[in-house]
Amino acid sequence: MPTLTFLGAAGSVTGSKHLVEAAGKRLLVDCGLFQGGHELKQRNWDPLPVEPASIDWVILTHAHIDHTGYLPRLVSDGFRGPILANPATFELCQLLLRDSAHLQEEDALYAAKKSYSRHKPPLPLYTVEEAEEALGRFQEIPRSGPYRISPEFAVNLYDAGHILGSSIVELTITEDGKSTVVVFTGDLGRYNQVILKDPQPVARADYLVTESTYGDRDHPADPGYDQLAGAVRRAVARGGVIIIPAFAVDRSQTLLYVLRQLEDQNRIPCLPTYLDSPMAISVTDLYEKHREDHQLVFRAAEEKGIDPLNCHDVHMTRSVPESKQINNIRTPCIILSASGMVSGGRVVHHLIRRLPDPHNLVMLVGYQAEGTPGRALLDGARFLRLHGEEVAVRAEIVDLPQFSAHADRTEIERWLGNFQAPPRQVYLVHGEPEGAAALEKTLRAKFGWPVEIAQYRQTVNLG
Ligand SMILES: [Zn+2]
Repeated sequence: MPTLTFLGAAGSVTGSKHLVEAAGKRLLVDCGLFQGGHELKQRNWDPLPVEPASIDWVILTHAHIDHTGYLPRLVSDGFRGPILANPATFELCQLLLRDSAHLQEEDALYAAKKSYSRHKPPLPLYTVEEAEEALGRFQEIPRSGPYRISPEFAVNLYDAGHILGSSIVELTITEDGKSTVVVFTGDLGRYNQVILKDPQPVARADYLVTESTYGDRDHPADPGYDQLAGAVRRAVARGGVIIIPAFAVDRSQTLLYVLRQLEDQNRIPCLPTYLDSPMAISVTDLYEKHREDHQLVFRAAEEKGIDPLNCHDVHMTRSVPESKQINNIRTPCIILSASGMVSGGRVVHHLIRRLPDPHNLVMLVGYQAEGTPGRALLDGARFLRLHGEEVAVRAEIVDLPQFSAHADRTEIERWLGNFQAPPRQVYLVHGEPEGAAALEKTLRAKFGWPVEIAQYRQTVNLG
């Protein structure tokens, strides 16, 4: 009988790894890094419960590090099969995995210098060279539609509307002449977004593995532009600097698009805007290249020759000296920098410098996982520990969850409403305990479906 084992994103939102076993073959759906608090991060250092060499294929729902960032480690620990991904996901992974390896190496060096690491000497989880080896194992698959992996496994791929290249994977498992369909939502996007299309409907599944990040709440109904514009004007009036920690993929592009719109509508002044993330700059180029995921209004703007992803006074700062120069700016400006949860990257340096000043503004525009500095800011922390330093939080903090790339409770329900028959079993993954528990209750009450919250390292039969 085929089985499914949850090796990550069970009881948490990171580390997505779902292992499907059938007819003696093993397929891993996503291979993400655990991010967040120490206990979660420690799991990245534990040996995988299955031998990496025994896994035959990996298939990716999308490029985000919490779905792909363990790949270099998987390969260096012995995985020798192909990593299946569509062209946009592959291109994004080339940026993200190299960057992730860089950050691992940099953080290890920095920790050695400041000697705050628990590992002595501090080691990176993987190196750039190991990331390159993992990239060498990628094999491109179509953006959408059917694709046969092997006699046991075939997939049908749908647009998830979450980031460029994001897919919902419908997997058909064939064992002993019997077929079983398992649908993995990956991360579900929102409806009516500015750049990406709506998540595509799926009509049936024997088993459904769905994300539950925002299972316990709805995003505010208005798109948040008034709140964003108001906060920017407030910061400008007091002469402050605006820092937006943003994921390099999708959040940075969406923010650039919205800031440009607000400038064009005279709702905010045209401020110098620094996209201070080499990766976000490269990803922005990919967003312009891969038009297959763009929705019509966005494409219309592009066709008129408008560059919708550029503010009027935008500065793309790739080099470290350019980034450091931003520290000298004392007049209002916007700094968009990764990572989105302040768990690493250049934004940490900007926040160390700018958080103690009450004139400044920090806007949080995405999910802040438990244990991250971003979550601490959201929860009103008066001090943050960043790079081993105690940093006072006096800047204004504004939360704009509308800019999340994840469907909220109502949107998850809307997408599930497309199913024409109830799945035999629904497993909730990619949610913190509150989000998953709330969605479990809602799905039972509203759809009457059998729902279970997946547990870390749990194996279930797909019979
Ligand atoms: Zn994602």
